[in-house]
Amino acid sequence: MIRKLLRRVFKRPASTPSEPAVIPADQHGVRSTEISPAARKVCAVLQEQGHKAYVVGGAVRDIIAGQKPKDFDVATSATPEEVKAAFRRARIIGRRFKIVHVMSGPETIEVSTFRASQDAETAETDEHGRILRDNVFGSQAEDATRRDFTVNALYYDPATETIIDYHHGVADLKQKTLRMIGDVRTRYREDPVRMLRAVRLGAKLGLTIDPAARGPIREMSSLLENVPAARLFDEMLKLLLSGHAVNCLKQLREEGLHHGLLPLLDVILEQPMGERFVWLSLDNTDQRVRQGKPVSPGFLFATLLWHEVLANWEARKARGESVYPALFEAMDEVLDLQAGKLAITRRIVGDIKEIWALQPRFERRNGKAPYRLIEQPRYRAAWDFLRLRAESGEIDVAIPEWWNRFAHASGTDREALMQGDPDGAPRKRRRRRRKPSGAREEGDTGESAN
Ligand code: ATP
Ligand code: MG
Repeated sequence: MIRKLLRRVFKRPASTPSEPAVIPADQHGVRSTEISPAARKVCAVLQEQGHKAYVVGGAVRDIIAGQKPKDFDVATSATPEEVKAAFRRARIIGRRFKIVHVMSGPETIEVSTFRASQDAETAETDEHGRILRDNVFGSQAEDATRRDFTVNALYYDPATETIIDYHHGVADLKQKTLRMIGDVRTRYREDPVRMLRAVRLGAKLGLTIDPAARGPIREMSSLLENVPAARLFDEMLKLLLSGHAVNCLKQLREEGLHHGLLPLLDVILEQPMGERFVWLSLDNTDQRVRQGKPVSPGFLFATLLWHEVLANWEARKARGESVYPALFEAMDEVLDLQAGKLAITRRIVGDIKEIWALQPRFERRNGKAPYRLIEQPRYRAAWDFLRLRAESGEIDVAIPEWWNRFAHASGTDREALMQGDPDGAPRKRRRRRRKPSGAREEGDTGESAN
């Protein structure tokens, strides 16, 4: 205990450089007009009060790389209490490490106080070296050193349009290199999620992961197993919604990182049918993200896990279980298996289940059932899902086509479609089976969905 304290007092973080580069705008190209008005204002107000305040992290990096930043974070020498006092609409969040959300117009700016870099000797860690708390305030130089990659440790001052660069991040970014700050293995041990961040940021920004940072990933990947499931879920969600999910997952697979993330993803990626479905879905998601269209995490996870559900469901039906109960059991079993590793939030689990549960109802194309189905609030998501299933070759493309026509047809045309009008052709090819006993849903035809 006393030794730890002494170390903390005497030991300076090893890799904190003394003099950072101060890079003018004509060299890095970031103009203050590219910074959101709220972030500019937050910096200006804090600086007026005598504090240091910079736009930091992903936003600066993304602008230099020619991409539109997702959000703006500010790092400051002011304490959370000082930050809160400086703004009318601000609240402190987080208990262990307080950060401040400053609201300005429609924007929320996350303001964090410079943090001390911790090394594995002084920090509180678990038995694998993972840092459990990161809650000591520090100098700006220390704050830079505790960040993960050099391109993420750039401090932009909107007032002077200069970048304070402690770790040659601007040069690395121009050379398209993702380089870790400090000792790579130690940094992965401190926080294994950095391995996923390396892959995601590399794919998003078209950066090559520096061999020193890439090398140890394969052998250290099992450390991800100790990361809390909720944290892993957040990071996977970021990765899947980055607009570069296809590249990210290919890279994850190359690095051997997909094992154990979604426990089933490795299995899925090895099944020919499931694999095609997953890639199609990810590609579809990437396109939507890049076009600025909304993407539903529930839909995405529903696709990632669908072939596991399908296999489980088929096995149950083969054992004589009824269609709907078998589906619901399969859904729960697959989701439970996930839950230990990846804490999918409850709301998203609800969305996933709704999409899955509607799938067998597309089998029934007569009577009142189709009318009821298209009135379902989740019909559109379920139909998109159906279409992906068809595109991947799992089911006949005529099925989503039929539903599309039905949903948009007038009353009489709908009747004609249900009568097996040539346009509703797939019906002719469908075998009808009797509804098995024990099935409870009215949409049930007793047919499996494959
Ligand atoms: P994006 O917002 O595009 O997902 P980002 O780099 O901004 O990417 P955030 O999670 O918003 O990611 O983190 C903001 C900054 O905090 C990062 O740029 C980095 O400096 C620092 N940071 C985030 N996660 C870590 C980590 N695991 N280890 C060290 N520093 C981190
Ligand atoms: Mg960010």
